[in-house]
Amino acid sequence: MTTNQSKPNISFEFFPFKSDKEIGTFADTVQILNTFEPRFFSVTHGAFASSTSRSDEMITLVQQNTTKPVAAHVTTCNLDKTTLLNWVAQLYQQGVRHIVALRGDNKAKMTAEHYQNAAELVAALRERYSDIEISVAGYPEMHKEAKSKQADLDYLKLKLDSGADNLITQFYFDTNALYEFKNDLARLGVDKPIIAGILPVGNFTKMLEMAEYCKVSVPDAMRKRYEAVGEDSKAQAELAVTTSIELVNNTSALGIHDFHFYCMNKAKTVKAIIEGL
Ligand code: FAD
Repeated sequence: MTTNQSKPNISFEFFPFKSDKEIGTFADTVQILNTFEPRFFSVTHGAFASSTSRSDEMITLVQQNTTKPVAAHVTTCNLDKTTLLNWVAQLYQQGVRHIVALRGDNKAKMTAEHYQNAAELVAALRERYSDIEISVAGYPEMHKEAKSKQADLDYLKLKLDSGADNLITQFYFDTNALYEFKNDLARLGVDKPIIAGILPVGNFTKMLEMAEYCKVSVPDAMRKRYEAVGEDSKAQAELAVTTSIELVNNTSALGIHDFHFYCMNKAKTVKAIIEGL
């Protein structure tokens, strides 16, 4: 993967629609975002539906509207090893050469038949496929279940050393936390690219719920900005753009030039962000 400082690498994340009725003008969304020459698009799995079929449909839909690579998120928690490997083989057949390897949140039903964590999944995929890109999740403010910051960092290093090519971060708003995370990884000898996950916030109340769940901090200055506009959705949409532009610029200043946009299956806000960079 190349990192060109004057032009950041960008990628866009989609999630599978719950029903066909929601698809609407999604093909246009992909085509609009495609004009920004993303390095890849990605399609999540498991967060809203454990079956692979909705992810498959979404991957196909994206592939039909771009020639850019489409990465598949694969979660171990809801697929036993055989089902997971069969699915990856099928994805490979349909041209997918990039997997975002994850454990997922829904771990209550995991048994010995499942890969127990993302590191095990990365090792299993790398053993079988030498020609795919593998990304893993990284948590600048540490994963919510981690015993300590150091344990989380050591574990992230293990995931990368198991054969992953890069990490995509959880969304964040505190660039100081990202700076520390980057330095901590460098101290551990990790030199694989950090892809910064950017969440444009068009619904502050909803984001606060997500941030609480994921244990992501929300700086006071950001809170004040959003609180000042209240429930005004147009003003929040404008803040989503300006706040994200600032975040990308502050992140670039740290020497990180890869950005993965959690674009919520919509083009408008992300388009405005990228045009404003
Ligand atoms: P893991 O890397 O396996 O880690 C889980 C926890 O276990 C961590 O606290 C880790 O420190 C600890 N741990 C595991 N093994 C060890 C060990 N050997 N020693 C010490 N500690 C250990 N969720 C979805 O459902 N679908 C998606 O498509 C999806 N996409 C995502 C994309 C990105 C970029 C990110 C950041 C998250 C995504 N998630 C998704 C959320 C993710 O599934 C959850 O955060 C989940 O709780 C952890 O998944 P993981 O792959 O990071 O887990």
